[in-house]
Amino acid sequence: MAVATTVSGILAAVNGALGLITKGVATHDESVIEKATQTLVDEIRELNVATLQTSEDNVRLIKSVATLEHDLKAANEEIAKLKAKKRELSRYELTPITEGPVVYRLKSAYADKEPIHYRCPKCVNADKTGYLQPVRVKSAQYLVCADCEFEYFAGFLPPPDYSKLIALMAR
Ligand SMILES: [Zn+2]
Repeated sequence: MAVATTVSGILAAVNGALGLITKGVATHDESVIEKATQTLVDEIRELNVATLQTSEDNVRLIKSVATLEHDLKAANEEIAKLKAKKRELSRYELTPITEGPVVYRLKSAYADKEPIHYRCPKCVNADKTGYLQPVRVKSAQYLVCADCEFEYFAGFLPPPDYSKLIALMAR
């Protein structure tokens, strides 16, 4: 805005100087023509400076717009990613295993296309799959994360039932 004001001010001064030159020519007044010509030269120099400043401002504005467009694109991509993650997570529910840790479990409504499975909350939050695989250590059952290898204790298995074997051996 300031530059536009400057430019219009300069143009007004240029018109004034041209008017004086015309007047000087009409009255054959050399000193008026000389003074107005000098004013004209000074104003045109000012106009060049103002035009250059306007060009530099435009270049700066174009760069700012490009940066903003880049930031906006990145923000939109981030939003799309978050929406996809939210949609994916809506298929799961947080559920405790035993009395301790809480893990993600596929909701039964989605179990028609894939088996019910568990996922590690820490890894899911870090955008990893974090599938939990059952591992048995003696009578203890764990769900072990395939990504971070954290072992979620999932309780003790019941002692083996030997009654059928005993009945079989008694025959
Ligand atoms: Zn994990």
